[in-house]
Formats: sequence, structure tokens, C-alpha cells
Amino acid sequence: MKWAYDLHIHTAASPCADDNMTPHNIVNMSLLKGLQLIAITDHQTVANCEAVMKVGKEKGLQVLAGIEIECMEEFHLIALFQDLQTAYVMEEWLWESLPTIYNRPSIFGHQWKFNAQDEIVGEISRLLLVAARLPAYDIIQKARSLGALIYPAHIDRASYSILSNLGSIPTEYHFDFLEVSKKANIYDYQKQYPHCTILQSSDAHYLEDILEKESIIEVEKLKLWKNKIPYEKKAGEFQ
Ligand SMILES: [Zn+2]
Ligand SMILES: [Zn+2]
Repeated sequence: MKWAYDLHIHTAASPCADDNMTPHNIVNMSLLKGLQLIAITDHQTVANCEAVMKVGKEKGLQVLAGIEIECMEEFHLIALFQDLQTAYVMEEWLWESLPTIYNRPSIFGHQWKFNAQDEIVGEISRLLLVAARLPAYDIIQKARSLGALIYPAHIDRASYSILSNLGSIPTEYHFDFLEVSKKANIYDYQKQYPHCTILQSSDAHYLEDILEKESIIEVEKLKLWKNKIPYEKKAGEFQ
């Protein structure tokens, strides 16, 4: 099944994301853009995955629980989970190694938590824009032990990317996937890294940044559904 995807979308739990990044707004905009599959990937939290997944299920959009992790080496990794339970396990483990710094909303922005009715049910008090005190290697191993897919985010960017910070992609990480940003030429990266699948996602912090129907993947490649086919026909097959 070939689906139009955007696997890097922030909700308003990320302080840097717009307050309009609510579950319903994200799902509605993704459907409007013709997407079949999205992932919620807030900085260091999975707090809003459940609400967006519920809305997605109601409206016929496949939503994956994900997270964008900043490791000790200060680059970003995207982890996508098979289910919410493993996403929560990963978050709990990660938070043990997050420096306890409190958010100052007037400076960094709010970190809203929503329910599936788009109501604010809380605000995350600890600042999420901090690096975990964990090397990338440990984070990768932990994610894989939970059956998650993990790969470096926006490798073409000049900051917070594996290439900007390490200069190369160390082979000991054994990545099968790499993410490039919206502006990158995906074919250049595919040529450069022929053994990896290159994913292109938006890193949307605003609704209008969510991708159009432009990135397409054979969903089975993601290996996140074990033997199950992603739910219902409602989500539709990409034509
Ligand atoms: Zn990032
Ligand atoms: Zn991001």
C-alpha cells in the first residue's frame, strides 16, 4: 500500500509550535492535504499522541505515536512506535535523563496537553527544549528494544542534525531510514545513502507547514504494524 505521509509533525506540546497545533486541527489539515499517514513527534514528549490518534481513528487518518529526541550529542532523532504503550515506556525512560529545567512560557512558549476534544487538559511544566543526558547510541538501542523505528531527523539542516554535529552518519547506529527536511532534494540523499530509505517530512510547527501529498511510502516498509494491516479501508489506499 502506497500512502502519502508526513512523519514529523509537532503539536502545541512543543513550546516552539503554534498553539493552533491541536489534535483536530492537525488531523483536519492532514486530511485536507490528502495524507493517509502522519506521526506526532513532539520534542521529548508523547503527551499528545493519544489525543491525535483518537481523532485520527474517528476521521480515518492513520496516526503514529512518535517523539523527537535530542540526544547528548545535540542532534535530533525521530522514533516511531508500534503503539502508545511502548511510546509511554520510552518517554518515562527518557525523562529520567532530562535535566530538570522548568519552562518559562513567556520566553519559550506554552507546552499544552490536549484531549481528543481539543480541550487543554494541562501544561507540561518541565522545559522540553533540552538535550537528554544520554548518548545517541543508548537511545537508539532502547527504542529498538521496544520495537520502535528510530532514525536521525532533518539530516540536511545546519543545526541539530547528525551531519552538522558529527560530520557523518556513524555505521554503528545501523540506520535503515534517514529523514530529510522539506527543502532537501531527496534524490541526492538517496544516491548518497543507497542502503537507507530516505523519508521526507515537514517538521511542521504550524498547520500550513504540513506536507501536501508529496512524500509517498509503501507502508509495509515501516514494519510498525507487525502482521496487521493498518486499520480500516477508510484511511484509503493512495491512488
Ligand atoms: Zn528537530
Ligand atoms: Zn521537529
